[in-house]
Amino acid sequence: MELLVVGCGLTGAVIAREMAEKGKKVLLLERRDHVGGNMYDFKDEHGYLVQKYGPHIFHTTEKSLFEYVKKFEEWNEFNLCCGACWDETYTTTPFNFSTIDKFYPPEKAKRLKEKLQANFEGRKTASVVEVLSHPDGEIRAYAEFLFENDYAPYTAKQWGVSPKDIDPSVLSRVPLRFSYEEGYFDDPYQAMPKHSFTTFFEKLLNHPNIDVKLGIDATEHLTIHQGKIYYDADCLEIPVIYTGPLDELFGCVYGRLPYRSLRFEWHYSEQDSIQPAPVVAYPKEDAFTRITEYKKLPVQEGRGSTFAVEYPIPYQEGQKMEPYYPVLTNESQMQYEQYYMLASRVKNLIPCGRLADFKYYNMDQALKRALQVCEMIQE
Ligand code: FAD
Repeated sequence: MELLVVGCGLTGAVIAREMAEKGKKVLLLERRDHVGGNMYDFKDEHGYLVQKYGPHIFHTTEKSLFEYVKKFEEWNEFNLCCGACWDETYTTTPFNFSTIDKFYPPEKAKRLKEKLQANFEGRKTASVVEVLSHPDGEIRAYAEFLFENDYAPYTAKQWGVSPKDIDPSVLSRVPLRFSYEEGYFDDPYQAMPKHSFTTFFEKLLNHPNIDVKLGIDATEHLTIHQGKIYYDADCLEIPVIYTGPLDELFGCVYGRLPYRSLRFEWHYSEQDSIQPAPVVAYPKEDAFTRITEYKKLPVQEGRGSTFAVEYPIPYQEGQKMEPYYPVLTNESQMQYEQYYMLASRVKNLIPCGRLADFKYYNMDQALKRALQVCEMIQE
């Protein structure tokens, strides 16, 4: 073995492949019973391809990253449309002019759309925060309406806080559209794998230099002592890529890093369609945030429909929960820095990926980071 990789998500799998191509013998350890990390998908008992850890769509602005994933699987263009539903009214998201038509009487809707076009001339979108502070009362009231009915209750559920404690500044990147244009992302490359994300991983890992071992929690074997990293009794001199939560590698000596977890409730309906879009948010429902209907992600023919209802929950140690979203605050960043300092004392240890970097990476960002790490190892 010439390289040890912990975690078989996108980050670990890409590093394993790249280094295997360079002739290195790679051992890849994964504690789950499958490859693919949070991108793992499988066919359910009704024949629908579903994603165990929530809906994923590959999207990027960088052609080279799309070219990279295309080496291992065919991809079909997929423009994700999402929606939100409250008070029995459905609207597309990001909110656009059809949202105004749905919630406003025709005269008022017409005036508001004209005002938005005039006040944001030449612009396709603006952030909600910007619209919330607009001098025109009617424009501001529109943003306030969306904030109160959607953004605040949704964000509050997502992060487990009260809607009144949601600071609008957290929405600085959430856009409002000034047209009828639909589509969740604006990236030029948006795609779903032709077969599945799991097929993509199987091909990525299919290399004679890669040995994947599932069901192994590396933290039960790895110890760090005086700047050295050990696997059981063996001191490792080879590079060790670690893509799990960094606090766990150090026995949580500085306390647990905060994450939000999710619980998915799986259902099958005899109805052929249960909602207008693959992913719909239900901001005013008590406990769940959104529903993903998998026959629409990607489009799959068949009777009935499988869907997952998503409940954000606090992440608790020892409860067999997955750390889905890092809770990024000044305090948690400082806590993370303490772990990072411990890791940096071990020369051959490279923490990376969504968990070990404690960053919310999209797939393309995780891929980019993995490729950067490969360059670093070769230097
Ligand atoms: P992970 O996928 O988390 O992989 C880490 C792996 O390490 C896991 O398999 C874990 O089991 C394993 N591991 C951890 N600790 C250990 C240990 N001690 N021993 C052995 N193995 C260990 N991105 C997009 O671009 N588009 C989307 O639409 C999108 N939707 C998302 C929806 C949800 C609900 C979530 C949570 C994320 C979404 N993402 C999306 C982000 C995407 O999932 C990540 O960018 C990507 O999965 C990161 O890969 P990773 O390898 O860094 O992390």
